[in-house]
Amino acid sequence: MPPQDRPDPSLRSADAPRVEDSATSGTAPRGDQRTSIRSGAHRKRAVPRKAAPPRRGARKAGTPSRQQRAKRRAGSTKPPTKGRSSRRSAARTRRLDTLSDPALYGKLRTLTVGAHRIAPGQSRHVNLKVSETMLGRALHMPVTVVNGGQPGPTVFLAAAIHGDELNGVQVIRTLITRLSAAPLRGAVLAVPIVNVEGLLHGERYLRDRRDLNRNFPGDPQGNLAERLAASVMDLVRQCDVAIDLHTASIGRCNMSHVRGDLRQPDARLLAKAFGAEVTIDRPGHGSSLRGAASDAGIPTLTFEGGEAHRFEPQVVSTAVLGISNVLTALRMVDGVVIEPPFRIIVRQSLWVRAPKGGILLMHVSPREVVHQGQVIAVLSTPFGTEEEAIRAPFTGLVLGITTSPLAHPGTPICHMIKLEKTLAKVSRVLGSAPPPAGPMVSDR
Ligand SMILES: [Zn+2]
Repeated sequence: MPPQDRPDPSLRSADAPRVEDSATSGTAPRGDQRTSIRSGAHRKRAVPRKAAPPRRGARKAGTPSRQQRAKRRAGSTKPPTKGRSSRRSAARTRRLDTLSDPALYGKLRTLTVGAHRIAPGQSRHVNLKVSETMLGRALHMPVTVVNGGQPGPTVFLAAAIHGDELNGVQVIRTLITRLSAAPLRGAVLAVPIVNVEGLLHGERYLRDRRDLNRNFPGDPQGNLAERLAASVMDLVRQCDVAIDLHTASIGRCNMSHVRGDLRQPDARLLAKAFGAEVTIDRPGHGSSLRGAASDAGIPTLTFEGGEAHRFEPQVVSTAVLGISNVLTALRMVDGVVIEPPFRIIVRQSLWVRAPKGGILLMHVSPREVVHQGQVIAVLSTPFGTEEEAIRAPFTGLVLGITTSPLAHPGTPICHMIKLEKTLAKVSRVLGSAPPPAGPMVSDR
């Protein structure tokens, strides 16, 4: 859940671009000249504008091509070592600048979605044919392109790769209504529903029970999941960065956070710009969208927030704010980057598991500080007897919990990260339950 003191980004209406299916084409330039996509802020970090837009049609002398940048990112997977030299630090700083330097994106690009070509300055909704039902009818994936009238990076956004994870659908729907092509520096290529059949059936997986997010980068000649993944990768490869929106799987609820491989400097820049309270620094699974896009040299973040089958306004607001921060940090829109009230970057997390089967009463919620030994849940029999408390193994923050009141032995019930240096600050922001004392079973 987002911090209480963050403002909800205000909704603004905008002229809708034309909707087209994959058999037609056309253009719908936008007249709206706004570049800022939100208003209001508490803690703001100004992002300086470049004095002049970069020269059109050519890269600056000595700057790398897109392919060179992709190679450099792909090769930058070594973890940082202690005691790096100042020269190395300077090089790293320059690398951080590359992603947000408009000089590297000097050429206006035409983007391709299937047979459609979307020129700079145009916005387009496309129903892209990606498969067929078993009745032979076309299966379309909705794709929105807002191709800016000024040079800049191209950002890929995806939601509902797992068809029952809906918060990201609303995140993308909200964002694309706020973007206008003409003033945008760069482009946004967004897929609000990747797994259309899964969403229609309220299911995480594809109809053949495959997990789409374990079939990247896909294969246009492969099975259903691989073909769909290949269609998505055709879009991703046109982009410079990617953000993939998820929720917890069914039966669990997550605190909003991002995941990325922060050994990659550009992924680190993305995560910093997004401004999540918690970042898990971990490479993506090799067959996930994040893993495949990272392998292709495209720094990628995964956002995780809330639970399946729901639109949760606070989670949606947090993700909209985070992506707005990224677009601002990349100088694609004017505005300010809004800092979170605290930042935690962790590599390790732990799922606390039920020691035995029983009826489960949770005593903690996501985004709550718990102290070592504090009761986080109670297991009991159907008669309400033989209660057994499950206690926190360390002092930390609850990242996610099960939402089911029933547990088998070994059921993961509480996802925690350890708090050490940041404990005082996080406790101040979130408030803190007192250290465990008194009866074993709390009456909360
Ligand atoms: Zn997911």
